[in-house]
Amino acid sequence: MRPGVSISLLASAAFALAALGAAGSALADPPTGASHGASSTPAGAARPDEVVVDLAERVPPRWLDGFADDWPLTPERWRRRMPRECRTRGGYRAHCQGARLVPTPTGPAAALARRLGLGQRATALHLMNHRPFPEWIDAVADEDAEERLTFPVATGHLGRGFGRTRTGSMSHRRHWGVDIGAEEGAPIVAARGGLVVYSDNALTGYGNVVMILHREGFTTFYAHCRRTLVFAGQRVQRGQPIAEVGQTGFAPAPHLHFEWRQRGWARDPAPQFLPRDR
Ligand SMILES: [Zn+2]
Repeated sequence: MRPGVSISLLASAAFALAALGAAGSALADPPTGASHGASSTPAGAARPDEVVVDLAERVPPRWLDGFADDWPLTPERWRRRMPRECRTRGGYRAHCQGARLVPTPTGPAAALARRLGLGQRATALHLMNHRPFPEWIDAVADEDAEERLTFPVATGHLGRGFGRTRTGSMSHRRHWGVDIGAEEGAPIVAARGGLVVYSDNALTGYGNVVMILHREGFTTFYAHCRRTLVFAGQRVQRGQPIAEVGQTGFAPAPHLHFEWRQRGWARDPAPQFLPRDR
């Protein structure tokens, strides 16, 4: 960590929050003093209750809470087929997220998530744009070494592909994943073993989402779920059910929007899928 950077980050965070009249809400959670100096301690040496990754010190303040509508969130939209109440002229609407159906974190996994700063909106935003923090990579060093991916919906079929543009006003927006069509409620399984880093509903447009961190900083991302079955801090095996196909967020029909990233860069997952059994 470079002290100068984190000090200026903190200062700008405090300024921005004060300016918004929201001071306190985002920074109140971490225990006072626990984060100071913790960033120089290896994850393995931390006390069980010690916060190792304090996101308030490491990410832009606008990521810490609330529903920001600006870049880098660019969920797909199907303007003509969207329900009337979800149609917008540029902004996103929180009520189009659908019902938030995510498990409440408990036990040692919840404690691990607290310690590592997992499970927050800022956790997911960071991993969608940057390489994971070293403490997070350390936490998955022993996970599933097979880089290729298990197809996440056994009964699904590949639809819209990666990076293609659509016609219309959103044509400049690229598609950062693939869409897998399937029936509402179809099981979604982990494409690779790893650590759940996010399972919630606060990424505008994506609905109920699971994000899993894999060995060497890869991530997989499962959006529009009817419900999620895992929570941040849990370790999951390849092929383990983690959610159900749904159409929460901006989705015109039940499908899984699946993304695969290498240290923050979205890449086309299609060539990575292992042959399917069926
Ligand atoms: Zn999609």
